Amino acid sequence: MTTARVRVRFAPSPTGDLHVGGARTALFNWLFARQHGGAFILRIEDTDQARLVGQSIAGIIEGLKWLGLEWDEGPDIGGPYGPYIQSQRLPLYREHARWLVEHGHAYYCFCTPERLERVRQEQRARGEPPGYDRHCRFLPPEEVEARLARGEPAVIRFKMPLEGVTTIVDLLRGEITYENRLLQDLVLLKSDGFPTYHLANVVDDHFMEISHILRAEEWIPSAPLHAQLYRAFGWEMPVLCHLPLILSPDGKGKLSKRHGATGVLEFKRLGYLPEAMINYLALLGWAYDAEREIFSREELIQLFRLEEVNPHPARFNFEKLLWMNQYY
Ligand code: GLU
Ligand code: ZN
Repeated sequence: MTTARVRVRFAPSPTGDLHVGGARTALFNWLFARQHGGAFILRIEDTDQARLVGQSIAGIIEGLKWLGLEWDEGPDIGGPYGPYIQSQRLPLYREHARWLVEHGHAYYCFCTPERLERVRQEQRARGEPPGYDRHCRFLPPEEVEARLARGEPAVIRFKMPLEGVTTIVDLLRGEITYENRLLQDLVLLKSDGFPTYHLANVVDDHFMEISHILRAEEWIPSAPLHAQLYRAFGWEMPVLCHLPLILSPDGKGKLSKRHGATGVLEFKRLGYLPEAMINYLALLGWAYDAEREIFSREELIQLFRLEEVNPHPARFNFEKLLWMNQYY
C-alpha cells in the first residue's frame, strides 16, 4: 500500500486564455487534491517560445482565481505563491538532457530542417508514416565530438528502444500498449537550449513529486514516450488519468470559439457565476447519479470520484450552464 501524499498539477501552456477544457482539467485536479488533503500546483509550461501569447499567463491566473481554484505552493514572490514557470528553470532541464546523453539514453542530432524535410518527403513517397530516421543516433562518437567542438547547432534526442513494447496504464482506460519501433526518437532539448514539452514535463513532474497526472486526452500519445523517459531516469511514473474530450453541442467536433463563448473570462463577462461554472464543469465527464445536478463546491469535493469519470467525450451544453446559473 502506498501512503504517498496526493500531489497534482495543472500545467497549461500560455498560448491563450483559460478555456473551458483547461478549466475542467484544473477543476478535476483541484477537487482531487482537496478531497485527499493533497497539494494542487500550478505550473506554466512556456518552453515553446514560438507559441507564447503575451498576457496569457495573467489571463490564466485571473480565470483560476475567479473560479476559486487556488494553488498551494510555488515560488515565493512576496505574497501569495506565484506559479512555477518553466522558462525560469532551464538549467535543470539542460542538466537532465546531458545526463541522458552521458548515460547512453540520448544523442546529439545535427540534422538541418532541410534534411528532415527531405526525409519526410521520401517517407511520404514510400507511403511510410513520417518521422525522424534516427540518422544521428549512429554517428561515430569522434564525429559527434568534432561537430560539437566546431559549434554546430544540435538538438538532443531520446533513444527510443528499437524493439519491444511500451505499456501505459490509464486510470480510466486501462492498459494501452505501443510498439516501440513505431515511437519517435523525440527531441528533448532544442538547439536554442530550451527543453521540449516532453522533457520539461517529465523532469518537473518528478521533482515536484506529482502523484497523479490528470490531463486532457490529447496527451495520451505522449504517454509511452514519457514512460520511456521515466524508465531511463530510473524514476517512478505518476498515476496517469486522461480526461475526456469536450465536444461541441452538436457532438460533431471539438468545442471551439465558433460554438460560442469558450474562454472562462468570457463567461465571467457574460455574467455567469463562478459557482455555476464549477458545477457545470464538474459534470463534464463525471456524474453523481442519473438525477442530481446541482452541487455546492463542498459537496463536489466530497462526492467527486476520479475513477468514475467517463472516458468518452462529453458534449458542451450552453443551455444547461444557463439553467444551472439560476441556482447560485
Ligand atoms: N502544457 C500541456 C498543455 O498545455 C500540459 C500537458 C500535461 O498536463 O502534461 O496542455
Ligand atoms: Zn540527426
